[in-house]
Amino acid sequence: MEIRLNNLTKIFQSKKQEETIAVNQLDVTIPSGKLIGLLGPSGCGKSTTLYMISGLLKPTEGSIFFGDDDVTTVPPEERGIGLVFQNYALYPHMTVRQNILFPLENLKVPKAEALQQAQDIANLVGIGELMDRKPAQLSGGQQQRVAIARALVKKPRVLLLDEPLSNLDARLRLQTREEIKRIQRETGITTLFVTHDQEEAMSISDEIVVMKDGLMQQKGSPQGVYDDPINEFTARFLGTPPINMFDGEIKGGKIHLNGASIGESDLEDRKVRIGIRPEGFKVLKTGSLRVEVEFVETIGRDTTLIIKNPVEEGKTFRAIVEADQKIQPGKGISLSVKPHKMFLFDAATGERI
Ligand code: ADP
Ligand code: MG
Repeated sequence: MEIRLNNLTKIFQSKKQEETIAVNQLDVTIPSGKLIGLLGPSGCGKSTTLYMISGLLKPTEGSIFFGDDDVTTVPPEERGIGLVFQNYALYPHMTVRQNILFPLENLKVPKAEALQQAQDIANLVGIGELMDRKPAQLSGGQQQRVAIARALVKKPRVLLLDEPLSNLDARLRLQTREEIKRIQRETGITTLFVTHDQEEAMSISDEIVVMKDGLMQQKGSPQGVYDDPINEFTARFLGTPPINMFDGEIKGGKIHLNGASIGESDLEDRKVRIGIRPEGFKVLKTGSLRVEVEFVETIGRDTTLIIKNPVEEGKTFRAIVEADQKIQPGKGISLSVKPHKMFLFDAATGERI
């Protein structure tokens, strides 16, 4: 089931007549059967978008289509959605089985059939043996699976997940996100996964939609957006460690960083912001960009160099290089920059140039 958001807008009005534009003219198509990550910092309008798709919030403007159905004014219970929130909101006095069965009760599904459906879904999400337990007898990850099973048992057209992994510890978060990906693949259900965690969104999503201040910034495959960010915001938001930013300039067809030429550009002479991914550097014996290494961290295959920023005193930047290079802290090295790992931005607007 394809989801289409047309000009979707939500303006909240406070008592003092102040307006918050939580979601601003969002135009997004979510392809059928895919898992889309809605990604952005806290307060950028992710939950508001999800609540409008679910029908829990009424849009100020715009429309929502599920396939050919205009569902903009359809009540939530008639939209065919499954919802999962950060806090699993399970009924504590009910068993896992009763929790999963609950959404079927209003649907008048015959008892034996309902039990079978609940068991099938529980098996799918990997909690088939825990049906007689109460939520308090489950780990956080297991509770979240119960919540997912409960959302799926009605066979919804669309699955909406709002920061579903935020309450889990780091290991469970990793494991559960892989489970969600598997469940999504097996059911083929169109899924919108909301998160502020770029790594989570990048690892789980077929496509990501990056938002800031209610506005969509960019949409594409995770790797596509990482490799070709549209502006400084997206470039900085994706990637760990984050992209390095420098003030630089273009002079005579060369990109200059602290007086050193680090690449070529067709642009006219001007000031620019230069973004370089940490993996975008190469260490050379000699070269024009001379820098001083402050720390060296080797973890597994990679060595991270923490280097004094030549442009901004007191600041550092990060370069990830192969571990076998013998680099001493406190020593000077030369760097070159891989052209496809470097992006130029307008200093005033942050737009890519
Ligand atoms: P996110 O989920 O990305 O963290 P939200 O969608 O929850 O962001 O919020 C987007 C913006 O709308 C924020 O500025 C938030 O304070 C505001 N907002 C959300 N809900 C309400 C509400 N019920 N009334 C007023 N403002 C709200
Ligand atoms: Mg939110």
